[in-house]
Amino acid sequence: MSDKKKKPQKKKRPSAHDVRPSALSVKPGKVGGHDGMSRSKEPKGSVRPASALRPELGTKEYVEGVLAGDRTILGRAITLVESNAAEHQDRAQELLKELSPRAGRSIRVGITGIPGSGKSTLIETLGTTLTETDHQVAVLAVDPSSSVSRGSILGDKTRMERLARNPRAFIRPSPTGGTLGGVARKTRETILLFEAAGYDVLLVETVGVGQNEIAVRSMVDFFLLVLVAGTGDELQGIKKGVIEIADALVVNKADGENKVAAAAARAQYARALHYIRPATKGWQTEAFTASALTGDGVDALWKVVETFRNLTTRSGAFGRRRCEQARDWLHQMIAERLTNNFYGHPAIAEILPGIEQEVIDGRLPAARAAMNLLKKFDEGRTNSD
Ligand code: GDP
Repeated sequence: MSDKKKKPQKKKRPSAHDVRPSALSVKPGKVGGHDGMSRSKEPKGSVRPASALRPELGTKEYVEGVLAGDRTILGRAITLVESNAAEHQDRAQELLKELSPRAGRSIRVGITGIPGSGKSTLIETLGTTLTETDHQVAVLAVDPSSSVSRGSILGDKTRMERLARNPRAFIRPSPTGGTLGGVARKTRETILLFEAAGYDVLLVETVGVGQNEIAVRSMVDFFLLVLVAGTGDELQGIKKGVIEIADALVVNKADGENKVAAAAARAQYARALHYIRPATKGWQTEAFTASALTGDGVDALWKVVETFRNLTTRSGAFGRRRCEQARDWLHQMIAERLTNNFYGHPAIAEILPGIEQEVIDGRLPAARAAMNLLKKFDEGRTNSD
């Protein structure tokens, strides 16, 4: 920690516990095509951002740095994983292959809820408590819209200020500029990096847009739904589908004058849960109240997560879910790659608009059109082999 007062020394690598403003600030999402990584081929005279001027790291340096919990190298490894450039993706895969055996020893918790329900306040309170009890906490977000609405989630520096300064926590905003599939891949791979770096609690936040929640559910062990007491029918405005994938519900803001309403809302959700099949076999999803602001009920909420982990580890459900997630991820990656190859193929791109029109006009049945296109794709690939 003494290094905080000294002038920064160029050669010394920071450890996970060094408090360096550059390493702790919440990095804003990047817009546009640049991914922050250096390029091997850059046109002469082009203006390159400062980050691109840093020397390239080899896989060994990345691996050693991440395993040592070096925040700067970890940050750069995440940037590598988030890059869409083919050369970076190859290097990222190499790195992940080395680090994967060291990942996995964590609890991955998804947190969802409508904007304003108190997710970031809850993460701040919970995250801070956890770091005080020897945990290392990583906070990630899944928000494919974040390149459009910059700072809508986590990118905003005013959110989770206390946790952002905590040397035992690392907040990473949602990767930007991508489809949900792309953002999900990057988040999954970032989870592995954090785990290899020693982070044992991963909190993955999502904004309440149906598909994002499903994507986050497929990468976490435990899924928490944050709710608030409203007026009228509590179940209105919240999709039943989201309750079905949750392992716990928490009615937040159970403080002050809102305490009674929160308790009533909790009871209503608890009744609704009787009619819903639990998201995890052998586990009963329950509703709780908490106040992220005062901290009331937050410890109890974490006890629920711990009980879940112990119980499902013993029953085997925990490991089974992770295996299923890994298998689904594989198939998702295959489907994505095939789809991209198909639509990116010049022969397909050329004839697709015409065929689409024929289908729209009713001159060609869709199934027949698909068959023709796939045949063309196969021929195109055979010819280019
Ligand atoms: P998010 O959009 O879901 O991340 O919500 P925030 O955490 O940003 O919270 C939205 C607003 O609700 C902020 O003004 C918070 O201070 C407030 N808030 C969050 N949690 C609580 C709570 O437990 N009690 C009260 N009274 N206010 C809260």
